[in-house]
Amino acid sequence: MTRPPLLEIQDLRTYFYSRAKEAFIRSVDGVSLAIAPGETLGVVGESGSGKSVTALSILGLVGGNPGVITGAVHFAGGNGASGPRNLLADLERYVSLTKHDGRIVAVAKDEPGWRAHVERALARVRGKQIAMIFQNPKSSLNPFVTVGQQISEAVRLHTGVTHASEAKERALGWLERVRMDSPRLRFDQYPDGLSGGMCQRAMIAMALASEPSLLIADEPTTGLDATIQSRIVALLAELKSEFGVTTLLITHDIRVVSRLADTVAVMYGATVMEHGPARDVLAPGVEPKHPYTSALLASLPSTQTNGRRHAVDGRLPVIRGEVVDTMNVPRGCRFHARCDRITDAIRARCMGEEPALATVAAGHRMRCHLHPGEARGG
Ligand code: SF4
Repeated sequence: MTRPPLLEIQDLRTYFYSRAKEAFIRSVDGVSLAIAPGETLGVVGESGSGKSVTALSILGLVGGNPGVITGAVHFAGGNGASGPRNLLADLERYVSLTKHDGRIVAVAKDEPGWRAHVERALARVRGKQIAMIFQNPKSSLNPFVTVGQQISEAVRLHTGVTHASEAKERALGWLERVRMDSPRLRFDQYPDGLSGGMCQRAMIAMALASEPSLLIADEPTTGLDATIQSRIVALLAELKSEFGVTTLLITHDIRVVSRLADTVAVMYGATVMEHGPARDVLAPGVEPKHPYTSALLASLPSTQTNGRRHAVDGRLPVIRGEVVDTMNVPRGCRFHARCDRITDAIRARCMGEEPALATVAAGHRMRCHLHPGEARGG
């Protein structure tokens, strides 16, 4: 990356504490990523890989009393006058950690102080400098307020527009930009009167109406039917070329990432397995590839077979085995129980030593003993 990043996540760890099991669930376990201005970073992985918790941790939106969030999230948005700001700064004041072998094994925490600090530190960032769109847009919109009022409110709160008539005109403009059918009619409707696809367009309009520096889209197509999904992806692609909003795109659907992302991070077992330009990470035939990325790509329907392939018994190939239990992260490579690329030469290392995230080509990092590259931590 040549330009200074807009957002840089350094060694982010978000652990939840299970009182019943007296153990930590390591939902995010040492994630380091960066997004350049104007770039779309796609974070992809199966359910439970930690991608959504990574996004939520950036904004302190992690519910369920996280045991701890550590690391740094440097954000250069807003007026940018004072340079990047660590959104997680000073959180450590509220916790004391006990570590063993570099891992956190116990935490004592001032919970009310932690909560109040997060609210203070992030109140002006959320919605304004960093906006989010979620899956299930219907439940994310306020059911008692018309769509138009909700978007107008975002305009008033975040752009300095004070006149109701101007806020309304801007809101209508955003409804047009997200290709909402009959925007003037939809403006006065409540979310319940709109389809799922329309609600997602309204959510996108509301997020963009605050003119954020960064947009976080967390599974923006999940829960919509297939036709609507592809229309929302087409809309996001159009908006990307029109406005160039820097975007962190979280999805389990590798096809969505391949359509929209400039760079891709593949997450597994709460950490990053591969990170690099989309053309290197996702393009078939481009090597090296992480065995987990290869397995994800192999699980996609093939265009040559109209999506109906395949394997011996006619079913889509799936990645064998279960996703890793982040309460009991195994020794060695987190993917070793499911990996079909282990060779005798590296078996002992795969089982006993976690690979570092190593640089294998310019801007391309991988966590695999098959591709030792140049280790730089992270
Ligand atoms: Fe597979 Fe070993 Fe590479 Fe892990 S380190 S992905 S187990 S080959």
